[in-house]
Amino acid sequence: MENSDGSLILQVAIDTPLRRTFDYLAPVPAAATPAGSPRARPGVRVRVPFGRTTKIGIVVAVTDRSTMPRAKLKHAGEIIDCEPLFDPVGFELLRWAADYYHHPIGEVLAAALPAALRDGRSLEEPRLLWEPTPLGLAEATTPSDRRAPTQRALLAHLCVIGPRTTAELGVEFDPAILRAVATRGWIRERPQPALPADVPPGVAPVLRSSSIELTDAQRLAVDRIVESGKRFAVHLLHGVTGSGKTEVYLRAIAGLIGDHGQALVLVPEISLTPQLVERFRQRFDSAPAILHSGLAAGERLDAWRRARSGEARIVIGTRSAVLVPLPRLALIIVDEEHDASYKQHEGFRYSARDLAVVRARRADVAIVLGSATPSLESLENAIQGRYRKLMLPERPGAARAARMRLVDLRRHAVDHGFSQPAIAAIATHLAAGAQVIVFQNRRGYAPTLFCAACGWVATCAHCDARLTLHRHPAGLRCHHCGAQRPPANRCEACGRDLHPVGQGTERIEETLGRLFPGQSIARLDRDTVTTRGAIDALLERVRSGDARILVGTQMLTKGHDFPEIGLVVILDADQGLFATDYRAAERLAQTIIQVAGRAGRATRPGEVLIQTEFPDHPLLRLLIDAGYEAFAAQALAERREARWPPYARLALLRADAKDPVRLDAFLCAASRLAQATAVERSRGVSVLGPANALIARRADRHRAHLLIEAGDRSSLQRFLGDWLPRVESLSAPHGLRWSLDVDPLEVD
Ligand code: ADP
Ligand code: ZN
Repeated sequence: MENSDGSLILQVAIDTPLRRTFDYLAPVPAAATPAGSPRARPGVRVRVPFGRTTKIGIVVAVTDRSTMPRAKLKHAGEIIDCEPLFDPVGFELLRWAADYYHHPIGEVLAAALPAALRDGRSLEEPRLLWEPTPLGLAEATTPSDRRAPTQRALLAHLCVIGPRTTAELGVEFDPAILRAVATRGWIRERPQPALPADVPPGVAPVLRSSSIELTDAQRLAVDRIVESGKRFAVHLLHGVTGSGKTEVYLRAIAGLIGDHGQALVLVPEISLTPQLVERFRQRFDSAPAILHSGLAAGERLDAWRRARSGEARIVIGTRSAVLVPLPRLALIIVDEEHDASYKQHEGFRYSARDLAVVRARRADVAIVLGSATPSLESLENAIQGRYRKLMLPERPGAARAARMRLVDLRRHAVDHGFSQPAIAAIATHLAAGAQVIVFQNRRGYAPTLFCAACGWVATCAHCDARLTLHRHPAGLRCHHCGAQRPPANRCEACGRDLHPVGQGTERIEETLGRLFPGQSIARLDRDTVTTRGAIDALLERVRSGDARILVGTQMLTKGHDFPEIGLVVILDADQGLFATDYRAAERLAQTIIQVAGRAGRATRPGEVLIQTEFPDHPLLRLLIDAGYEAFAAQALAERREARWPPYARLALLRADAKDPVRLDAFLCAASRLAQATAVERSRGVSVLGPANALIARRADRHRAHLLIEAGDRSSLQRFLGDWLPRVESLSAPHGLRWSLDVDPLEVD
């Protein structure tokens, strides 16, 4: 029943795990402010009483009705913003995403806001920037004495990098030092000139000319994208690695952005693709706004504001950049659209790639999904005619695609993971002056520590998983919960010697050092590159030719362009061949093609060796002999047969708890509700499980799930809409956590 007495009700989204909004009466008139000041409307922040505290929420709707009795409603407090935070399409997208992913709207909106705005900072508030005073400048050039080295370091730093906020400097310099230097009169704080409110400069960013002449395929792709003009169209740009997709992006943007438009460019991981960002910086005359997780709070707010005001004409960012306000959106690019990092793996589990397509449709603009290894669902969309396919089948100029060869591990002796043919090929390429990549998707020294006498294996005390042996720093580490122990030499069961079994990147590096003494080796994995600077330094070592061999994990697959790689060795293709997950084969094929794509850039002919115990595996054969598209066609046929996506839609209810009995009881109850819901209202929806997760216990919590499968999106959505409120009304046992994942990437 809804009550209406004419007074205004604000529906407010609050950052809590509850799947609902909260009703408040409009602020009491006394608190209201003069004309031209903030008023309640969708998209503005508001302070509201919540329990015993005050929270900052976002007004989602203004109405005159509430399901709550009027007397129970509280008044909202201060309205913070004069203008809605989001552009209308962006705000609609967020509300749509909350519905589609069945995630609390308050958490969705919070995920879309920079932390500073979640904390109630004013959107219009000028940023205070520290800058050197004339006295400071003089001191920096001709120091009067040499005391206070830290203060002098700060002064010198500011002179080099230019004005910065306290927050930005806070990474290296304590606020107390800032104050001390200010007291000396060397630096002062000044408000940054206000950003133009909503008036971007009315000129198109200029794409600087370059010596690159487009290939016919590139030209055709650019023309098609630009021709589709300012209407919704999805272009699937399937370009082999090194075929020049970035050049297509640059020209498509130049062609469509016009005098006011904005382009959004999504990339999987910025720290791993500095080249792409660099090319955008060099080629356009206006600086792109960059958004990624490594930004300081102030930098993030700054980039977000520049996107929102329309001042940033090109916004490059990782996953969450798809949620940023872009009032003049004209084109979206999703680079490496198949990449798993577009899916958020916790909390609000959205797919940035999928949301980008929805956003393009709502904004009625073109979107380009680019990849050398398009996801099977995008290929299926192209087959169905929903996406337009654009091909870049070749590398421009002299660069040739690498030759791929399988090495049958059953027929060759193996030395610590390296077959004789692989060792010989590495030697040949090094002798010819080429660089070599060795890919092994396992970090650490050895994935297992094993007693040959009694069969004991080092396992994690908190997870159903083995501990990985690491050498630098030495220790046994759990890659699932982070637990660490000193390395053991003797078996805990029988006291005899333990042996490391299997190959991690650390051990591969050691073996390469032994096999190829005197060759400089670089290693790229999450243990060697923990900071942005370390990644840059390592990539530079490879690019400059200082490192002759590069060993690495999955991190190697991301768009690096190294001109002198002659050979890529994939040590173990088999991990993915028989995995239980239905996407494992797709992921393996993408990894092989992406890693292989690092070979044979520029003028060097490339070679790829793939070691396997199953050289006759049909999908692997197809991939090597006929290429990714042939593989994809076969893999899609298998998906269709087995009713997996894209021929079905999935949702996964995951739960975990310390007590396995209660966990099971909860999931069984949820399953019974699901069966009932499916029978009553959603025929064609099936419920599987409860089943244990692949790692059935992690960090002392037991993990299991229910899998929901439906023939199409709308029946899945209808089912979830009926079922979830029922699950929410179950009294979950204390300490149990559950979450829903719509379109999960892993059924685990
Ligand atoms: P992709 O992203 O498709 O793997 P890139 O965009 O990184 O490929 O391009 C690979 C290399 O080819 C880059 O060094 C780029 O400058 C160069 N390139 C791109 N297009 C052309 C072209 N038409 N002629 C010559 N070189 C090109
Ligand atoms: Zn563990």
